[in-house]
Amino acid sequence: MRKAADELTTYLGCPRKYEFKHVLELTGETQQNRDAFRKLLREVICTGYNTARQTDREPRKGAHEALESLWKSYVETADHHSRRQESTEKARAEAGLEAYFETVGPTHLDGIERAAELCERSVVGPDLTLSTTIQETQVSVTVDYIMAHGGSLVAVRLTDQLWASRVPYASDSEIAQEHLEQGLYAPQKVGTVIGARIAEQALGEYVADGTGTELMYLSVLEETFETDGDCEAVTDQQRMGEFLTESRQTIDDAIVWMAENIAAGNYDPVDVFDEQSHWDGSFEQVVENSCQYCPYAVGCQEAIRREVMFNV
Ligand code: SF4
Repeated sequence: MRKAADELTTYLGCPRKYEFKHVLELTGETQQNRDAFRKLLREVICTGYNTARQTDREPRKGAHEALESLWKSYVETADHHSRRQESTEKARAEAGLEAYFETVGPTHLDGIERAAELCERSVVGPDLTLSTTIQETQVSVTVDYIMAHGGSLVAVRLTDQLWASRVPYASDSEIAQEHLEQGLYAPQKVGTVIGARIAEQALGEYVADGTGTELMYLSVLEETFETDGDCEAVTDQQRMGEFLTESRQTIDDAIVWMAENIAAGNYDPVDVFDEQSHWDGSFEQVVENSCQYCPYAVGCQEAIRREVMFNV
């Protein structure tokens, strides 16, 4: 069965969490507002591009119109505490769109048109699935659009300010080896590298040799928020190719390791982290770094057992 990069990232962080989320399909306590805001951002930016391609209008205008038309249903989904919080979110979204289209809008539209010709498939999402096979394991990753950029085909995943905890810094070029071979615990960051590896390989199926392929995270971050409601935002982007230079084999081996464990129904984190030799860390690191933020902690036997041990 095909495994998505998000699922593998969850397994990498804690196999039991994978079981709760993807096998038993329990929702846990979600970050509903944050998820809904990211979804809104992706939807309106992609709508801006789709409108521009169909009607020749500026993508920025189409995106702002989409924001207006989707706002009511977004507000119904999100759990805002007050009107003030609602208008704050709207100002954040508007500032984010302005920053985004000011910085990259026209360039990316041009790149999207060229990618559409190269790939002959839908290249604007949101939430496009790129699928491929790595060492006989079927995998996929979700991106928002694909563009031709320089000599490369680049898939873009839009995100918001939460990206800082998930996307590695330039100085983290060996993050995958550090996590998988040296016992560092950074599953979210390594998960983005896994996504990059899958995107790189999947995009390669659309282009001839010599054209590079890559995943890029593009983040819209609010920079200032004044008490009068004025908000300014900036964009930041991270191309992921550099994180794969030395770690392709490490990542491919990790994908196969996780897929085999999942196929065997092995969700016991103590066994996966303490008994198996693939990862050099220990389950203690999961407890120290993940359990306190885990939406499934209330019903998790491992977490309860640990709590009892700590209380003795
Ligand atoms: S509480 Fe800890 S051990 Fe349990 S699923 Fe969450 S991260 Fe894993």
